[in-house]
Amino acid sequence: MKIIHSPAEMTAWAKGEAASGRRICLVPTMGCFHAGHLSLMRLARGRAERVVVSLFVNPTQFGPREDFAAYPRDFARDSRLAAEQGVDLLFAPEAAQMYPAGFQTVIRVSGLTRYLCGASRPGHFDGVATVVHKLFAITRADSAVFGEKDFQQLAVIRRMVADLNLDIEIIGHPIVREEDGLAMSSRNIYLLPADRAAALSLSQAIRLARRAAAAGERTVAVLAGLVRAHIESFAGTEIDYAAFVDAASLEPVEKVDARTLLALAVKIREKVRLIDNGFVLKAD
Ligand code: AMP
Repeated sequence: MKIIHSPAEMTAWAKGEAASGRRICLVPTMGCFHAGHLSLMRLARGRAERVVVSLFVNPTQFGPREDFAAYPRDFARDSRLAAEQGVDLLFAPEAAQMYPAGFQTVIRVSGLTRYLCGASRPGHFDGVATVVHKLFAITRADSAVFGEKDFQQLAVIRRMVADLNLDIEIIGHPIVREEDGLAMSSRNIYLLPADRAAALSLSQAIRLARRAAAAGERTVAVLAGLVRAHIESFAGTEIDYAAFVDAASLEPVEKVDARTLLALAVKIREKVRLIDNGFVLKAD
């Protein structure tokens, strides 16, 4: 597996691949790989002759009081794991290479970011859209894989690609979970054994809402009450949002239908912010 740090070198390599008729599938990540990341890489492997994984903890998508400095990093382990998945190239730039002096451009997707993480993390999706656009340009990818765990991020990227006529196929990957239902996340390593029950309340709450909906309950106020009560029954949980939204617009809904997504963000012990989501009218 090739490792490249410089954006210019990355683009030169990508141009060579294109000249030889090879397509590139990109998997953008912030590293600290878990089985979810590895599954995205395997999906990418089946989609193109060349798989590029980017590893960049992007400072512009973290708020001033968020965990940028503490975000877990392990380059040696990540490069070994990516190589084991048959990744062709790991692109790991430095922040100074991505944002050299004088940088002043921002890409903003305005509508979809009014809700959910967009509301609770101001500026987050500007950072995401801008860096992802840069990664698309630098790697010249023909397609890119994103996880549905970050459902709003995937929606924002799809919107940006459509709005800016970017010639790249966006591929969604289902949420990868631990055996007990916890959605995999690099931030799970911050969870103490004693936090596990509280962390599991997110996936349990999604199942709870599904069971109630399957039994005929369609009123969001009722379902939201069940969800909130379940999560709050665990010590150390603080709900950032528990929102029933239309999966296309991400706007809140009052009645559940086939497009209704339950999106959750919960802080555990004031430290670890976990997210999860699932369609409400879907069998477990
Ligand atoms: P991150 O390194 O956390 O920025 O994630 C990189 C990519 O992996 C993003 O597209 C995430 O949505 C995706 N991802 C992270 N965790 C999961 C998971 N548990 N299941 C599916 N995709 C995931």
